[in-house]
Amino acid sequence: MATILWQIHKFGGSSLQDAACFRIVADIIAERPNDTLGIIVSAMGGMTDRLLHLSTLAERDDNGFVAELQQVGERYSTTARALVDGSDLVALLDQWSQDASEIEQILTDVARAKSAPQRTRDIVAGFGEIWSARLLAAYLGKRLAKNRGGLWFDARQLIMVREGELGPTVLWDQSRANWDKVVDKDFAGVAVFTGFIATDEEGLQTTLGRNGSDYSASIVAALSGASQLTIWTDVDGVMSADPNKVPDAQVIDALSYNEAMELAYFGAEVIHPQTLGPAISNDIPVVIRNTFKPEHPGSRITATTDGSGQIKGITAVGNMALLNLEGAGMIGVPGTADRLFAALKQADVSVTLISQASSEHSICVAVPRDLVERARNVVTEAFADELASGQIQNVEITDDLSILAVVGDDMAGSPGLAARFFGTLGRARINVRAIAQGSSERNISAVVDANDATKALRAAHSGFYLSAKTISIGLIGPGTVGGTLLDQLHQQSSRLLGEFNLDLRVRAIARSKTMSLGDRRFDLGNWRQESKSAEEALDLDKFERHVHPDHIPHAVIIDCTASDAIADRYAGWLQRGIHVITPNKKAFSGKFSRLDEIRSSAKAGGAHFFYETTVGAALPIIRTLRDLIDTGDQVHSVQGILSGTLAYLFNIFDGSKPFSEIVTEARQSGFTEPDPRDDLSGMDVARKLTILARELGQRIELGDFPVENLIPEPLRDVGIDEFLESLADYDDEMAARYAKARSAGMNLRYIATLDAAGSASVELKQVSEDNAFSHIDLTDNLVQFASNRYSSNPLVVQGPGAGPAVTAGGVFGDLLKLAHYLDDGSIA
Ligand code: ADP
Ligand code: ASP
Ligand code: MG
Repeated sequence: MATILWQIHKFGGSSLQDAACFRIVADIIAERPNDTLGIIVSAMGGMTDRLLHLSTLAERDDNGFVAELQQVGERYSTTARALVDGSDLVALLDQWSQDASEIEQILTDVARAKSAPQRTRDIVAGFGEIWSARLLAAYLGKRLAKNRGGLWFDARQLIMVREGELGPTVLWDQSRANWDKVVDKDFAGVAVFTGFIATDEEGLQTTLGRNGSDYSASIVAALSGASQLTIWTDVDGVMSADPNKVPDAQVIDALSYNEAMELAYFGAEVIHPQTLGPAISNDIPVVIRNTFKPEHPGSRITATTDGSGQIKGITAVGNMALLNLEGAGMIGVPGTADRLFAALKQADVSVTLISQASSEHSICVAVPRDLVERARNVVTEAFADELASGQIQNVEITDDLSILAVVGDDMAGSPGLAARFFGTLGRARINVRAIAQGSSERNISAVVDANDATKALRAAHSGFYLSAKTISIGLIGPGTVGGTLLDQLHQQSSRLLGEFNLDLRVRAIARSKTMSLGDRRFDLGNWRQESKSAEEALDLDKFERHVHPDHIPHAVIIDCTASDAIADRYAGWLQRGIHVITPNKKAFSGKFSRLDEIRSSAKAGGAHFFYETTVGAALPIIRTLRDLIDTGDQVHSVQGILSGTLAYLFNIFDGSKPFSEIVTEARQSGFTEPDPRDDLSGMDVARKLTILARELGQRIELGDFPVENLIPEPLRDVGIDEFLESLADYDDEMAARYAKARSAGMNLRYIATLDAAGSASVELKQVSEDNAFSHIDLTDNLVQFASNRYSSNPLVVQGPGAGPAVTAGGVFGDLLKLAHYLDDGSIA
């Protein structure tokens, strides 16, 4: 006789929210027309909570439970009406009304007694599963081939349990006998079973605890000798961490029973801790899959581990407290631990974690918070003599804690994993209160303050799962330079990820009045569109928090504005560990006090700031100067043409065309600022010179040195049109200067000069024909460094020093330099 091979599928509340969900579930079942299927159902999502709440209301003698029960009924009947009709519907609604009267009767009694014993709560809560099973069975009767669907079993007739210290345990002999009696051994088709509910030794209804339907499914899998148990839920599988807390959590393809158990025990809600027991004893593979993405293979849990050498997941359980027993009297005294645990056991306190220092000076245990007072009392009593004599100093309690656990079979024999775990916690400045590692080395646990739990979880997760060079990027000012940078990042990002494991994630973009915060990252192929759809009012504090989340190792803000107000923020960002990159000159040429603060904040926050593009765009001017200084050269002087616009004007100006005409034409070709006076004033060059002087160690301010302003005095404050019209009135002056220079065989160039003694100037100078400054390409910048090493011939850096593409490229270069600094594998 061929034995029937069952396959068990469990659908949780999240897969049974409404009629649409029931249809999806039925689709999944209908796709398996030849299998014998056992379908275990939870209550509809949120139903168990509602039913438990009814008891709570009744207990308070609040007859609001009547109206609430009504609402529960409305939800159920709406769902039923959408799925079945005719006599099926009438039958379902009739049964529901009977159940409702029963519940009302029970709750009225509760209200009278003002107390809802556990049993009563269980009875009320258990109706949710019965309603789901009835409804799904009726709907399957309609959807599936004749005689295949329509049947459902009440698990209270099958599953017998005994309440134990660690929750209910199955009475297998009786449950098997029930199975043989209730389920036809030749059954072939689809049978629906209620999850969650069972019968205890006294024959009364009980439940298998919150999320207990997973356990029910595993029990039914064992009873039916199933070949596989599939748990359908609303995530793609068991994830490396709770996806609600860690946005970067990843699906774990395969894990061992032990790993899954450890994760479940330490709070991974996706699977009930006891679920795996029956599956393990019967060697039944358990698969976790997503009802709403059936094409995803999910996570497979079996006896074997995959030997990947990786950790599998990280979890956090809250509501914990530590009890610490400390005293010199414990050293070398055998049996102290025994007495401690005996006392705790007697008081029914389950211990989640134990840690003892090898000096035996203290033993520390973590227990659920609501049991800690009881634990303190029994331990104080058990060690009363030692406490009185001072051999044990005290029984100390620390409340409001969480346990963070890193789980993986392969942690055994993989040195460095613990270091990585605690290293990431340390860098995230999380205080660890106690540590435990099971001798199986499958779990390393750390006790942290509850307030730090999510941060700790994210930090630890990023330490194990993200590239150490994952950088969260916030960009301010997506204009010409900023926008070009985003396009460049788009072109390069997959190569950088593939070749260098550098994961650049642009997650926030700010404009002058609005900002866009991307949930994970912007699709840079489409950032203009995408960021528009996420637009909200600018709030730089919120922007900062978004750019610098706990779950990404590093964060950088790229300021592509020319704003003084944004520069005011750098110090705070750096202080809080956010790196800064910018072509904005304000911070580095503005008042020195702010720059001092930026420098000291960067040191305090362990953050870096780069601003190569503030002088000569991407030309390596600042870097060259710094390298000279850092390698011990003595720089005597720096001279340069630092404005592409002014370089252009004086290259073109050869006396044949009036200067004013050249300015107007240059403006039309986009070679000047919209108002050419921004170039002609010399302020931009003066700022660059200030930046270079400060690199040389000089505490120089704008205003400390002469700057030749090329705007005729009377035209400085007039409107732009008047300026452009009237500039011709001054052409003769400029022509005369040119003629004078030429008569001496010289050229006019606008030059910034700086020497080691601290003198600086910015002016229109005459330079000889054989000077390099006489021979530059149109808009080139050129800087000469004279030093001990470069004494007879200066070191020259020359090339285009402006324009969106080169400037953005320079900012990108700074970003790569930052990544290089982070290349030591450190995690912020
Ligand atoms: P169901 O109603 O199907 O039983 P649950 O809500 O009980 O579903 O469990 C699934 C949820 O568990 C997921 O939606 C997710 O939010 C949460 N969860 C917590 N930790 C993890 C984890 N490590 N992997 C996957 N999901 C997790
Ligand atoms: N419905 C029960 C609960 O919400 C059991 C389950 O869904 O697993 O806890
Ligand atoms: Mg669940």
